[in-house]
Amino acid sequence: MRLAEGIRRVGFRKWYERQLLQSHGHLVLTFLCLVAVFGALEAMRGTLGWAERVEELATLVLCVGTGLWALRRYLYLLNHAELAASQADCPQCKAYGRLDLVQSDDSGERVTVRCRGCGHGWRIEV
Ligand SMILES: [Zn+2]
Repeated sequence: MRLAEGIRRVGFRKWYERQLLQSHGHLVLTFLCLVAVFGALEAMRGTLGWAERVEELATLVLCVGTGLWALRRYLYLLNHAELAASQADCPQCKAYGRLDLVQSDDSGERVTVRCRGCGHGWRIEV
């Protein structure tokens, strides 16, 4: 979910929480893929024929690819959420995450927000 859409639909704090949950879900997937890679390597040791070995190799490649994708997605979502969170403090009253969306660009990643406490406006770019 894009930053602008997230702030509009559920508010900044919920959006941030969901980004963290989603990113850590990808970290769990990375770990599961790592376990599957070790399983595939162990299975390859016991195979004798080329047909079985090709199957195990295909499993290994699939798990490595999925694991790398999940790790990349984990890092992207985590960095994305942290970058937004580092800009979520009101510059005037220092309230964290208490903001409303005022305006966003087409990408939904550069937003103008307003503090709910003091009404000060600023931009968040991720
Ligand atoms: Zn404020």
